[in-house]
Amino acid sequence: MSHDTVSQGTLFIVSAPSGAGKTSLVRELIESLDGIQVSVSHTTRAKREGEVDGVNYHFVTVDRFEAMIAEGAFFEYAKVFDNYYGTSCQAAQTLLDAGQDVILEIDWQGARQVRERMPEAVSIFILPPSRDELERRLSGRGTDEHAVIARRMRDAVSEMSHFDEYDYLVINDDFTTALEELQALVVSQRLRCETMHSRHAPLLAALLSQQPRVE
Ligand code: 5GP
Repeated sequence: MSHDTVSQGTLFIVSAPSGAGKTSLVRELIESLDGIQVSVSHTTRAKREGEVDGVNYHFVTVDRFEAMIAEGAFFEYAKVFDNYYGTSCQAAQTLLDAGQDVILEIDWQGARQVRERMPEAVSIFILPPSRDELERRLSGRGTDEHAVIARRMRDAVSEMSHFDEYDYLVINDDFTTALEELQALVVSQRLRCETMHSRHAPLLAALLSQQPRVE
């Protein structure tokens, strides 16, 4: 991804442990604001019921994913829970070029790579409101075995241990409040002087012009 095209859109990294409500929050966020989209990642994990190829993920084989790594096609990628996940350079760049703000829903390993390549990316970590609530959310419908839940808790704690690498933290206790906080973060980035300057260059030039208007 080239650096000079970045000013057109802001790149947001959103990470969370499973059970924090990240996917629902991000879905509502992009529905509630114009000009922001989620980048569709590639993954080697099996498609879950209801998921659509090209919408939730680009579902590919391990061979294909590894070929893409060799081609340098990924902006970032990582192995998460035994499967590959990655953001292709093309997925995010196409949206940024179109002037869209872009959300990468990725894990802490991918977030580190993005920060290294694009330090101006804005990173947000979503946390559950309590340990008990997280456990409740990870227990599913109560049908899962104790060992499965314990494994999910371990994975969640491991992801959460990286919270302090992020710019912003949002606690998803009340869904509406967490959504408003995410909206505020996106809007405030759009109002940054630098962003306004690149998006409203003609207006700023006209406002500062000393040329008298020709009647
Ligand atoms: P799931 O399989 O539940 O959809 O996602 C599992 C984990 O993979 C989540 O933590 C999610 O943020 C992460 N993930 C999804 N897409 C990407 C990606 O493109 N890159 C990285 N690094 N992680 C991803």
